[in-house]
Amino acid sequence: MQDIPERHKEVLVIGIFKDRQVYIELRPQCPKCKKEFMLDLKKFLPGRAHSCYACGTIAQFDGQLAERVQKLMHDLEASIREVNESFLSQKAD
Ligand SMILES: [Zn+2]
Repeated sequence: MQDIPERHKEVLVIGIFKDRQVYIELRPQCPKCKKEFMLDLKKFLPGRAHSCYACGTIAQFDGQLAERVQKLMHDLEASIREVNESFLSQKAD
């Protein structure tokens, strides 16, 4: 298994807006072995869990938090579209 280079550990969140979808990736740590894993925030869903690739520990996702995150992601996508449209609707002199 490869260790993540030190400089990458500073990158905790990666955000992309493509095809009107927000893609946010986090690098949380396994609660047991502390290995970082990639978490696509859209897959942080109530009732789901992450199974550590290194030690097999199952980390349950917080249901209420997951629900809140999904709503925020939806709102964020809508807001980003509004920002884009706010520029489109401006008339250039
Ligand atoms: Zn682990």
